[in-house]
Amino acid sequence: MDTFDLVVVGGGAAGFMTAVTAAENGVKRIIILEGSSKLMEKVRISGGGRCNVTNASWIPNELAENYPRGGIKLLESFNRFAAGDVFDWFEKRGLNLKIESDNRVFPVSDSSLDVIGCLKKNAISRGVEISTKFFVKEILKTSDNLFTILNSEKDLIITRNIILSTGGHPSGHKLAKSLGHSIVRPVPSLFTFTTKEADLNKCSGVSIKNIDIEIELKNKSFKNRGDLLITHWGFSGPAVLKLSSLAARELFDQKYKCSLIIKWSNLEYEELKEKINYLKLNNGKLNIINLRPLPLLTKRLWVFLLDKMGINKEKKWSDLLANERDIMINSLLKDRYIISNKGPFGEEFVTSGGVSINEVDFKRMESLVCPGLFFSGEVLDVDGITGGFNFQHCWTSGWVAGIAVSKLFNKVTNQ
Ligand SMILES: Cc1cc2nc3c(=O)[nH]c(=O)nc-3n(C[C@H](O)[C@H](O)[C@H](O)COP(=O)(O)OP(=O)(O)OC[C@H]3O[C@@H](n4cnc5c(N)ncnc54)[C@H](O)[C@@H]3O)c2cc1C
Repeated sequence: MDTFDLVVVGGGAAGFMTAVTAAENGVKRIIILEGSSKLMEKVRISGGGRCNVTNASWIPNELAENYPRGGIKLLESFNRFAAGDVFDWFEKRGLNLKIESDNRVFPVSDSSLDVIGCLKKNAISRGVEISTKFFVKEILKTSDNLFTILNSEKDLIITRNIILSTGGHPSGHKLAKSLGHSIVRPVPSLFTFTTKEADLNKCSGVSIKNIDIEIELKNKSFKNRGDLLITHWGFSGPAVLKLSSLAARELFDQKYKCSLIIKWSNLEYEELKEKINYLKLNNGKLNIINLRPLPLLTKRLWVFLLDKMGINKEKKWSDLLANERDIMINSLLKDRYIISNKGPFGEEFVTSGGVSINEVDFKRMESLVCPGLFFSGEVLDVDGITGGFNFQHCWTSGWVAGIAVSKLFNKVTNQ
């Protein structure tokens, strides 16, 4: 039976980057084993079908700040292969990229299929073998430098090096555990919030730029500023996704029950009071519904908020009572919603948790527990916020691992 130099378990972004890098750097017999019938399926659906490949955050220190878990360790590998390197890597292999105004990087074609095409073409042209519907069930370290891999049909593959690039799939965690690794409890990250707040769905589609939001859990609070989107079921948008990531573990522990506090105005209490007093004095004849105190509030949102405050929207500004004014100020500065769950469709983007990063050498992505075993991508306890950072981690860890395996391979063959 042939012995492979590298077996990649998982045909996602991280697995392909590892295989292509190893092949380009001299590793001869490489096979990607993919459990499903589809390769890079998450790349295909990513970024709404456009694939947000990375983020134009060129400085490794700044790049690492976008990972609520794993950031400091990641620096060791970002110092070798960061966002600029990813940009060049794809462009050199024929995939043209563009940077959007918010720094997110996409293919010029706006098609994730081109990212898949680029990786697949480069793998195949370098002789990487690909086997789909090969779901790895068991990995045994059979001697000092050999692994035996089995699927459910007991098909057998032998390899000198193996990389787990199984994403957030529980089987990858199980395999890593069987080889001596500890697993940090996997929980969802990057999700939206559900609220049962009556009538909020009337504001569905309203989006507000750059506002402060906060979630309050039992003993902790998390804050963020960003864009907010009101949906049919609650809240979404970059500001919410980032908060869900920052508080992923705490939210899981609280079964996704928390308070979301929205600060609709960046004015302080006294400033807002002055503004409202000014409206009462100078625009007193206008109905409250027809004159919004803050430009960012759309009419639909203003009507909803007035109903929520219990203030008669047809009232004239001059008739607003002092206690109603105080309710208005408090609501605009600290508008509270009871969050009852994550978004309804299990649409979380990424898994937080996985193989403990303390057991992996991030300069090589090799296990510190089991030599010859490598990791790349989401299988590790690393996750980023939205904006291309999760793929960036896949490309970096895949590249670093591919180089490390090639160094081992070249050392052995040159001996
Ligand atoms: C809807 C959506 C949109 C997203 N958009 C973006 C985006 O635009 N930008 C961004 O940076 N991130 C995005 N992400 C996150 C990003 O897709 C993931 O972080 C990334 O795909 C992880 O890649 P991976 O290769 O580590 O794992 P995966 O893509 O999950 O690949 C792992 C592969 O391993 C296979 N596998 C698992 N277990 C076994 C086994 N035992 N044997 C054989 N094969 C196995 C799986 O079938 C899978 O194909 C998005 C995620 C989702 C869900």
